[in-house]
Amino acid sequence: MRAEVVSMTADNLDMEAIRRGGDILKQGGLVAFPTETVYGLGGDALNPQASMKIYAAKGRPSDNPLIVHIADYEDLKAVAVNIPAKTDALAAHFWPGPLTMIFEKSEVVPYGTTGGLDTVAVRMPSDPVAAAVIRAAGGFVSAPSANTSGRPSPTTAQHVSEDLDGKIDMILDSGSVDIGLESTILDMTVEPPMILRPGAITADMFEEVIGPVSVDE
Ligand code: AMP
Ligand code: MG
Repeated sequence: MRAEVVSMTADNLDMEAIRRGGDILKQGGLVAFPTETVYGLGGDALNPQASMKIYAAKGRPSDNPLIVHIADYEDLKAVAVNIPAKTDALAAHFWPGPLTMIFEKSEVVPYGTTGGLDTVAVRMPSDPVAAAVIRAAGGFVSAPSANTSGRPSPTTAQHVSEDLDGKIDMILDSGSVDIGLESTILDMTVEPPMILRPGAITADMFEEVIGPVSVDE
């Protein structure tokens, strides 16, 4: 079955389509949508069956953990525990945006989403379509790049449908996204926090906000 493609612009969201996308996600389906870095393949992060579908659609090994995307900062507390005090300042400066932070996971996050880890990766994307569909889905959406593993990350809805048609339920299309860098991954479970993956936000930018960070070798 072909995925339904719905076009909209970021400043004129099709809220009816976004509501339907949210319903598909709540029912365990997959919806691709733009983020500021690439098109993401969305699934309900709190539903392990949805995570299995993401791994199957991408051909990605299921021990490679997914990043949980949120739209509202308060929602972090639902998926993470022992959140260090520095997190507030980092979120105030860099969220929404291309920063992923790692925390101890709460019980609601299934191991099927974290690849079996007791930690969870969380990011708040800035794209308005992403934020709207995350809220419509209940607040917690895994969204790795919407491509078969090994293929280039998709920057248009057309790329997504050429690669994943038949494996996903819906594509929210708002034109091409910037070919941005990946999100920077910062491990907040260690002190000082450690950069696990370099990206758009650099060590210098973190240090201006929270002081020293370390870098994984
Ligand atoms: P992406 O492929 O951009 O969706 O990012 C997924 C990557 O985030 C994984 O391959 C890991 O490198 C990293 N990641 C996700 N969750 C965790 C975690 N709990 N601990 C450490 N790294 C993680
Ligand atoms: Mg990728």
